[in-house]
Amino acid sequence: MSLFQESFATSFPAVRVRFGAGVRHLLGDEMTALGVSRALILTTPQQADTGAEFAEALGAGAVGVFAGATMHTPVAVSESATARALELRADCVVAVGGGSTTGLGKAIALRTDLPQIVIPTTYAGSEATGILGQTEGGRKTTLTSAKVQPEVILYDAELVRSLPVSMTVTSALNAMAHAAEALYAQNRSPLSTLMALEGLRAFRAALPRVLDNPDDLRARGETLYGAWLCGTVLGSVGMALHHKLCHTLGGSFDLPHAETHAVILPHAIAYNEAAAADLLAPIATIFDGPTPGEALHRFALSMNAPTALRDLGMAEANLDRAADIAVQNPYWNPRPIERTALRQLLQAAWAGDAPQV
Ligand code: NAD
Repeated sequence: MSLFQESFATSFPAVRVRFGAGVRHLLGDEMTALGVSRALILTTPQQADTGAEFAEALGAGAVGVFAGATMHTPVAVSESATARALELRADCVVAVGGGSTTGLGKAIALRTDLPQIVIPTTYAGSEATGILGQTEGGRKTTLTSAKVQPEVILYDAELVRSLPVSMTVTSALNAMAHAAEALYAQNRSPLSTLMALEGLRAFRAALPRVLDNPDDLRARGETLYGAWLCGTVLGSVGMALHHKLCHTLGGSFDLPHAETHAVILPHAIAYNEAAAADLLAPIATIFDGPTPGEALHRFALSMNAPTALRDLGMAEANLDRAADIAVQNPYWNPRPIERTALRQLLQAAWAGDAPQV
């Protein structure tokens, strides 16, 4: 089937991507090519050892390590990391980690215009977008700016080997959600659709192999390839119900990011599948199910993904409030956002039921 569209407008940022097992050892070359020589390395406290290894390998090319990245990119952490970058006269940031660490690098870039090199260790996809979510005073806001788009991404399969299997699955479903919603995005293009379908196919093919053998570098590489494609579409087209709902659940009820995406994905796609039938049909084919939502649900079950919001700490008594918040700010979605239907979706997702159309 051709993905031709009669009209579209699109642009993709100029990002350098280097891919391959062991490619992290070429970080020094990439810094030279970028014209920088004083890196501030960023990690979470949990990945501080990895940060120290990078600093040692770079030698004089690393001016310091800031191992304080944390979930939701709190402004206070970003400001203290920015102060550290300025004090050390860093001329670039190197973020080694998942979406939280990448978010910190973006927050520093927003404040300083320093170039960013990202070395992802999850599949979240933030490294491929110019989107930054930040929190201050318990409120999460999101901005999109070329200033926060990372310049270089190094995808090294050896670094995702340490991602625990449960996080591997939820992070993969988080990435797949970007691609699934890209299929019906209003501003989609043939290229975003090509990337979204290929990203979904990559996860479909490789994730079961990673579960069989988490050290399978070829399979790990293929999942990172999926993450790159899915992240790139996230940065290129608008998202709808699935991402808004996950934002509400994460922001207002403090539910964990990747797990929430994993639970909601089949339900959000089932909600939209009649309104975007042709566009979503390839999902049923790729994941081999009777409908797109059911196919994703079965795939999630087969990967032992979490399927119930109640298992993530969501109280049933909060579902009404979640539905109220989710309908407050209107946004485009292939099917209109109706409170009753959304409340039903939340109930099914809370209980871990199969998605309802
Ligand atoms: P994360 O970055 O919060 O990482 C979760 C935990 O896993 C951390 O403790 C981290 O140190 C650890 N970890 C990461 N990689 C590991 C590895 N290979 N081995 C062992 N431990 C590892 O999780 P995430 O899901 O990657 O990112 C979530 C955040 O990213 C959210 O705040 C979300 O909003 C944001 N995000 C932003 C965008 C965007 O485009 N702006 C896109 C996707 C996600």
